[in-house]
Amino acid sequence: MNKLDTWVNIPEDSDFTIYNLPFGIFSTENSSPRVGVAIGDKILDLADLAEKEIIAVHPSILKQETLNEFIGLGKHITKNVRLDVQNLLVQKDSPLKDLPDLFIPLDKAQMHLPVHIGDYTDFYSSIEHATNVGKMFRDPENALLPNWRHIPVGYHGRASSIVVSGTSIKRPKGQVLPKDASSPVFKASGRLDFELEMGFITGKNTNLGESVSTSEADDYIFGLVLFNDWSARDIQKWEYVPLGPFLGKSFGSSISPWIVTLEALEPFKVAGPNQDPEVLPYLKYKGEKNYDITLEVALVPKDGEEQTVSTSNYKYMYWNMAQQLAHHTVNGCNINVGDVMASGTISGKDETSYGSMLEISWGGTKPVTLKDGSKRTFIEDYDTVVMRGFAEKDGIRVGFGEVKGQILPNN
Ligand code: CA
Repeated sequence: MNKLDTWVNIPEDSDFTIYNLPFGIFSTENSSPRVGVAIGDKILDLADLAEKEIIAVHPSILKQETLNEFIGLGKHITKNVRLDVQNLLVQKDSPLKDLPDLFIPLDKAQMHLPVHIGDYTDFYSSIEHATNVGKMFRDPENALLPNWRHIPVGYHGRASSIVVSGTSIKRPKGQVLPKDASSPVFKASGRLDFELEMGFITGKNTNLGESVSTSEADDYIFGLVLFNDWSARDIQKWEYVPLGPFLGKSFGSSISPWIVTLEALEPFKVAGPNQDPEVLPYLKYKGEKNYDITLEVALVPKDGEEQTVSTSNYKYMYWNMAQQLAHHTVNGCNINVGDVMASGTISGKDETSYGSMLEISWGGTKPVTLKDGSKRTFIEDYDTVVMRGFAEKDGIRVGFGEVKGQILPNN
């Protein structure tokens, strides 16, 4: 990859390098929500840039509360906007050098949910996670159901409760079956958990009845975000048979505010795990479809110090995004711009790479000790969960920033 030299001052280890340029929606004290691009510790105001006719997009498309209309222009436009911005940030005689007001400090901006999410689908595509959960919830000998290696298993999630990073989540209440009891009680969840996931945002509509093949999939994927699929394990365990999770998941999911484009992630492509048995023809794919993205989860107790509890990687995924999208649409189900398709919890083989407290504490039997000496098997009130993700290769870094959320009590 060509090295690029930007005239913008980029702090060391910044996720938002000249190679990244993710899109998000921000507002400030003085400006309404609008499209911006993150660069270093600043946001470049794209709406203002368009108003000054420095980029060729109508300002009304960028002065919006969501990215849907911009994304809907299609990759042939959005790709070029990103490359134009990159050029403007590299050119020695860039017109932006005389327009410092176009750069807003990240800490002066409020970030918003980047897209209007019509539909949210959650896959279950990490073989390590599915195996761990199968061992605990089902059968230690036959952890994976017979369909798992043939189908990128997924379910329809709840879009209305997806919130942007920084939004607090109230501990959910629901039906829980106490240990050794035969009937449930109604209470606040005692086994609240995170799920370390990535979500991709679709960038193109399909018509009902149409399918997207694995070779076409990249064209339908605008970009990725970090995704915390909060889960109430006690509610989930009682309700999920026979149709899968419902209230154990639908109370909230958190996403990072910056959508990192597929183009920015191109240098970090890697081969996925070998798929055995061989998949059906519509799930076959060519080329490298996994991405080497380091993922971390940290827990911060109230007024306490942050502690890393997991380090995983998106490359562990058994099923890749192209297969997920091909499978999702193979029956003719239509998709729309701004749909979120989450990966499912991303766990690795090693126990330091498990993507949920359910696995880290092995069903609550192995507590984690935090820096203040307190122990956690699941998430306590006022704990904050922070997830981070970045790809790095040959000195080039492309990161996602973070998605964080604090759990509030529900008495
Ligand atoms: Ca999930």
